Amino acid sequence: MASQTLSHVQYRYREQALIATLQNLIRQPSITPDDAGCSELVAEYLNQMGFTTQIFTLNGVTNLIAQKGHHRPTLAFLGHTDVVPPGNPETWLFPPFSATLNNGFIYGRGSVDMKSGIACMLNALTLYYADPESDHNASIMFLLTSDEEGPADYGTRSIVDYLKQSHIPVDACLVGEPTARRNGGDTVKIGRRGALSGTINIHGVSGHVAYPHQIDNPLHTAAAVIKSLTQLNWDEGSADFPGTSLQVTHIDSGSFTDNISPSDCRIEFNIRYSHLWCEQSLNEFICQAISSVCNQFEIHWQRPCESYFSSPETKTTKLLSIIEQAVIKKTGRYPTLSTSGGTSDGRFMASICNDVYELGVPNQRIHQVDERVAIEELVVMRDIYLETLKGFFNHPATEAF
Ligand SMILES: [Zn+2]
Repeated sequence: MASQTLSHVQYRYREQALIATLQNLIRQPSITPDDAGCSELVAEYLNQMGFTTQIFTLNGVTNLIAQKGHHRPTLAFLGHTDVVPPGNPETWLFPPFSATLNNGFIYGRGSVDMKSGIACMLNALTLYYADPESDHNASIMFLLTSDEEGPADYGTRSIVDYLKQSHIPVDACLVGEPTARRNGGDTVKIGRRGALSGTINIHGVSGHVAYPHQIDNPLHTAAAVIKSLTQLNWDEGSADFPGTSLQVTHIDSGSFTDNISPSDCRIEFNIRYSHLWCEQSLNEFICQAISSVCNQFEIHWQRPCESYFSSPETKTTKLLSIIEQAVIKKTGRYPTLSTSGGTSDGRFMASICNDVYELGVPNQRIHQVDERVAIEELVVMRDIYLETLKGFFNHPATEAF
């Protein structure tokens, strides 16, 4: 009886610690790429657990690399401390960096995306090390950047470069992004489509429309180019991965006069692509299509984001099945496996690690006014992370390392 009371008190205490950690993080106004002290705060928690931590800043971006234990496989937690701007604070029910607790929710910018993920991971680690049954020499990493919501040039990309140069292996990675559609654990992301934007410039000869033989109208050529781009045969994807698609997003031929044909035309487009493509193969495919209808054009590419897919053929650990078992144990439901949504920093980790999965709290309110997370969702996610940790380091498959 006494021990039951004690464990109840302990549990309440740990729930309070989870809430307090999240509130501390939200109260640092870390608008991208400003870390605003979040990494220092997380490092303090991790140091208390025996992690070695290093924080390095690069072009205004703050990155944290923390590590404990050397007993492979290595499991890395990945996340970001930066948040998108809150917009007009007057439109919020509570000030966006106040972390107000109201009616079972914690309000604040970043409460969902993704300071809740960081708080749950930290709290799960505390509970993991508090358990004498746990492997205290398990190799665990905690990786954070303040440049996920921005251009992502000096964030996780730099962390991955450092790990590569230092020959530090990562066998599996769990990204704490908010992935659930309705309830925590309902969706695990197993990859993301890539994204690439392109600009095509077509040159012509401007002139009076009454003398068509003296002009070369670039808009007419642009029409043929767009037709060729929209009729490309892309892959259709699979049950786990949507196919590739291209959308024309803008056409510009300068100022308009109704009796003059323009001299130039610019076409903008964006491609969302599956793991079957890369920047190089897309470039070749698109240039070939344009060349079939236009001999003179220029093409420029912007904002490349590679795709990633933790394919069942290449994965080397059992992390996905361990996550699935943890979700079933804590929620009673199987998670849906998905690759939907925009890009994520999982793509950088995928270049050094075959098993990258994303799992976090419900994402309906990300980037919105009154962003808030339910405390019961926080507890569920913390418990799933803890169960995943236990499963990962006790699983027979890990003996192979
Ligand atoms: Zn995020």
